[in-house]
Amino acid sequence: MTIVVDPAHGGPHKGVVGPAGTAESDLNLRVALRLRLLLEGFPLQLQLTRDTDAAVPKSVRHQHMATADWAIQLHHGGVSQREPIEIWISPRANKETAALAKVILGEMESGLGLDGRVTLPPDAHGRPTKQPKFPLFKRAPQAILVSTGHLHTPKGEQAISDQWIQHETGALFRSLVGWLGL
Ligand SMILES: [Zn+2]
Repeated sequence: MTIVVDPAHGGPHKGVVGPAGTAESDLNLRVALRLRLLLEGFPLQLQLTRDTDAAVPKSVRHQHMATADWAIQLHHGGVSQREPIEIWISPRANKETAALAKVILGEMESGLGLDGRVTLPPDAHGRPTKQPKFPLFKRAPQAILVSTGHLHTPKGEQAISDQWIQHETGALFRSLVGWLGL
């Protein structure tokens, strides 16, 4: 079982930068590195698309994610900014991916004590869903895109504390361990 985690952005591409200077790329990396540490010794292969503040081309990341059983791309804001926890999956995601996305949402909501939502594929609702066109989903339709927090506001930036990172990582850890029955 191979899980690829993509801490989005990196290098000169900071993603969202908070009013006090917190770079989204750093937050994404912190969650990914901590998750790797938590999952050490578990019988799954966790691969990261980057484990330093490096610029990895999107095409390389997407290809890497396309080879995984599941892939999770991490963001902290900057996707739609509506809910504090937002999870996106491709309209071409299969049922297992949709189910895993819901597990992640549930763990994130209880871990962070916030509400969120999963934007499901159109057929799950029986109607088309409006969603940004993520190039990621073209290459890796079973990828799950997770975004937490509102880094672009002063309050939102402050909220993403060390504790937030720990709770978020814990939620991802519990999701994967529970989902895979490890
Ligand atoms: Zn981002």
